[in-house]
Amino acid sequence: MTYSTLAMSIAESPTLRLNEEARLLRERGAAVIHLGIGEPKNRAPLSAILSAASKLNTGDIKYSPTDGIPSLKKAIIRYTEENYDRLVAPENVIVSAGAKQSIFNILYSILNPQDEVIILAPYWVSYPEIVKMCYGVPIVVRPEDGSFHPRFEEIERVVTSSTKAIILNSPNNPSGIIFSDEFLAKIVDFCERKGIYIIADDIYHKLVFDGKHPTPAYKFSTKDSENTKIIAVNGVAKLYGMTGFRIGWAIAPRKLVQVMTNVQSQVTTCVSPFLQDAAEGALTGLQSIVDQLRLTMQNNRDVMMQELHAFTGIKCVKPQGTFYCLPDFRAYKQDSVALSDFLLKRAYVVTVPGKEFGMEGHLRLSYAGSIKDVTDGIARIKWALDPNSPNEIYIGDKKMIRDWL
Ligand code: PMP
Repeated sequence: MTYSTLAMSIAESPTLRLNEEARLLRERGAAVIHLGIGEPKNRAPLSAILSAASKLNTGDIKYSPTDGIPSLKKAIIRYTEENYDRLVAPENVIVSAGAKQSIFNILYSILNPQDEVIILAPYWVSYPEIVKMCYGVPIVVRPEDGSFHPRFEEIERVVTSSTKAIILNSPNNPSGIIFSDEFLAKIVDFCERKGIYIIADDIYHKLVFDGKHPTPAYKFSTKDSENTKIIAVNGVAKLYGMTGFRIGWAIAPRKLVQVMTNVQSQVTTCVSPFLQDAAEGALTGLQSIVDQLRLTMQNNRDVMMQELHAFTGIKCVKPQGTFYCLPDFRAYKQDSVALSDFLLKRAYVVTVPGKEFGMEGHLRLSYAGSIKDVTDGIARIKWALDPNSPNEIYIGDKKMIRDWL
């Protein structure tokens, strides 16, 4: 049996694979701590649940418009006006099954085979794979100074006549950093002059700490909604901790939205209407839930930083948003895949190898779980790696003795 060469070249999502490994270990009774997870533990907002439930109660769940139900689009337009200072038309909005599908639809709709898409390391694991699925070529730019902040000059250097788009993700998964206004202004101006699309993945834009208010890339565009090269991507997954509802959206010039709608119509027809109702409920309901989530994550970040500071040899850039950090573990091991595997097998802690995000030698740690997950998780990692830490630890009610250092 043979399969598509392209499909066979697509890597499994490492985060989803790790979720599955953790689940299997737990099933076998292991007290696994999940520092790999990309979702907070909150309950979905009541307004979202009620809205979805009332739609379900009608029993009338049918196909809905491919680009999204009008009332959700209206809520997204209001959200866009409030957060991007832009009044867009319904024809500029398309709802998809998560921001992931939005990004796929965009790339599928703009790329010709061999078109290049610039991806800034550290990057979200799915970007290169989605670009490849759309017959494009991912061009990864890594900050030469070893920081996590991209530099305009380094990006400019890789632009060719084949460059079709650049993906910006700020606040950034996996580093948690926010791109500076100066950088965003420069890159937006450059791309709009050169006709290069900017896909602004703003999925974490409200999960920001220390009173910061990052400016979305969209705000730097001097073009109107039909002529801008910026496509803004957002969704309810991280904003409201509604990952399982699978609702994301894109704001783009209407011509592009039309193309994306045709693509989506042939793949998934539409997004489930009661899940769209849930997203509408979240967007139009009490917004204090976003603040609560943000403050919880900020507190978790602080605890994570405190634990990592007390960890000999570990360096970590302080995240300004998201629920991730990307500490440098090279003092212990270069190979992040081997390190992550070792920590899962020996200490039952899930981490995600930095290699998957284009940053070898690092591990992505999530603080979306509980404070106890953070403190116990780091204590276990310390026990597994640091010879100066006590060589006994309790994992669940099992006393574990370190015999490998
Ligand atoms: N973009 C980034 C940067 C993400 O981290 C994620 C989820 N991990 C997504 C997009 C996908 O979001 P959704 O669940 O809405 O598909």
